[in-house]
Amino acid sequence: MAKYIFITGGVVSSLGKGLTSGAVGCLLEARGLRIGIQKLDPYINVDPGTMSPYEHGEVYVTDDGTETDLDLGHYERFTNTPLNRLSNSTTGSIYDSVIRRERAGGYLGKTVQVVPHITNEIKDCILRMAEQDLDVVITEIGGTVGDIESLPFLEAIRQFGHEQGRDRVMYMHLTLLPYLRATGEVKTKPTQHSVGKLREIGIQPDVLIYRTEKSVDAEVRSKISLFCNVPDDAVFEEKDVDHSIYELPIILAKQGLDELILKRLQLPRSESDLSEWERLVDIIVNQLDGEIEIAVVGKYIELHDAYKSVYEALTHAGIENRARVKFRKVEAEELEDEGVEVLEGVHGILVPGGFGKRGIEGMILAARYARENKIPFFGICLGLQIAVIEFARNACHMKGANSTEFDAKCAVPVIDLMDEQLDVTDKGGTMRLGAYACRVKPKSLAFELYGEETISERHRHRWEVNNKYLEKLEAHGLKPSGINPDKNLVEIIEIPEHPFYISCQFHPEFKSKPIKPHPVFGGFVAAAIEHQKNSARPSGTARPSKHVEKGAEERGE
Ligand code: GLN
Repeated sequence: MAKYIFITGGVVSSLGKGLTSGAVGCLLEARGLRIGIQKLDPYINVDPGTMSPYEHGEVYVTDDGTETDLDLGHYERFTNTPLNRLSNSTTGSIYDSVIRRERAGGYLGKTVQVVPHITNEIKDCILRMAEQDLDVVITEIGGTVGDIESLPFLEAIRQFGHEQGRDRVMYMHLTLLPYLRATGEVKTKPTQHSVGKLREIGIQPDVLIYRTEKSVDAEVRSKISLFCNVPDDAVFEEKDVDHSIYELPIILAKQGLDELILKRLQLPRSESDLSEWERLVDIIVNQLDGEIEIAVVGKYIELHDAYKSVYEALTHAGIENRARVKFRKVEAEELEDEGVEVLEGVHGILVPGGFGKRGIEGMILAARYARENKIPFFGICLGLQIAVIEFARNACHMKGANSTEFDAKCAVPVIDLMDEQLDVTDKGGTMRLGAYACRVKPKSLAFELYGEETISERHRHRWEVNNKYLEKLEAHGLKPSGINPDKNLVEIIEIPEHPFYISCQFHPEFKSKPIKPHPVFGGFVAAAIEHQKNSARPSGTARPSKHVEKGAEERGE
């Protein structure tokens, strides 16, 4: 019978509950336990798929094609547990199933209410996870304690503990200790209030984890323990990490969090094996000697979370290649105004996924600059479509080449809506989503990187390469090196003449882990390092740009 851990947050949002949930999963897997992780989000959208990245950051996609919260990316990067549609539910999806059941007569004779019908449905979401033969289910509750919309979720998890038995259910609460520079102190009062709020709802946390800028002494910890009614040894510190978010499992294990969970939930006591993570952290702290700079040219560039998994995957590839990856975040529209000078000195260019017309011409300029100047290039989803438009226009001289997404009446629609999308009008969950097979051509860069002829990658798109123009594109040197065998869709393109020019219709960033970097990202970063070595301009003398930012190792979610 599964045991349950609930993770709530208080004081402020964006505390890193997702990272903490992932790290807890990692610690339990290191003890040989089978875990499942899920997130319950209190917003009314059925899933985040229809939200703008400005609202929500990246939409993370699982193998089964569920469009989910970006925290699920953390779960997959920290653990080996495969996620699926059970891993993310929202107020919207929960109401949706209750209302459908009501319409079908499932509650005949009853008044359907938040308590018990919505809370029962929430509890069912948790129980359905456990049916997957797991030792521990970790459930993160989105939002902050005290939010109106979180209440049904908190009531549901309170009831869950009552019904399942407190020895099988554990509550962990994450808060912030703000540091007041003026007085030089760390304050515990907001944490006390936040725990007070939880207790009002009937939940007494078993574990309290505080985020802090500065480490606090035993006295402050005891104060937190006393006022929050949590034992001294169940108070844990998450100080801002020195080097990388991937230090987190080790930081928590050192303080004994996994020991405490095993004891509290009476789980089998096996030795912890965190050796892979220790090796990883050692590389990050001691062995990154090189530094390269990658331009990411996108539309939501000021928002780090919009391309979260892309930055993480680049960081993983950097670790694999023993190099720190700096990001030059280039706003595509700005590139249209200022020209390709903003790309000068970078060692690789990446165009990530996206939707809509804004910034498209800037991305096309970036792809051309990379192609003509032999700078390593990597296009993802929209990035592939951009690369094809650019190649058609400038290498094949196909005037008017475009995607019908940006110009429905363009003369040469090298990118067109997929047949299966022609009659689709609903926006939610209707793209080509999730894992599909791709056949990789032997003797291609893609095959060199993957080392396999059949691969599976995750998708989220409506448009595709128009096969009508493929012959002409190939005749000019664009190689389709990955094809979906069922529908004959182009999945990967490359330019064999170029040192490293590859693009894919799928999103490889979703499958990159720090412990197992993705091969295409690995190859791209290796090519960027090679480009740096070969370029006349010594490293470090690249034109300074206001877009330069430190790699994603730092916390700063
Ligand atoms: N807008 C493009 C499409 O729908 C690309 C999507 C993406 O980059 N995820 O096909």
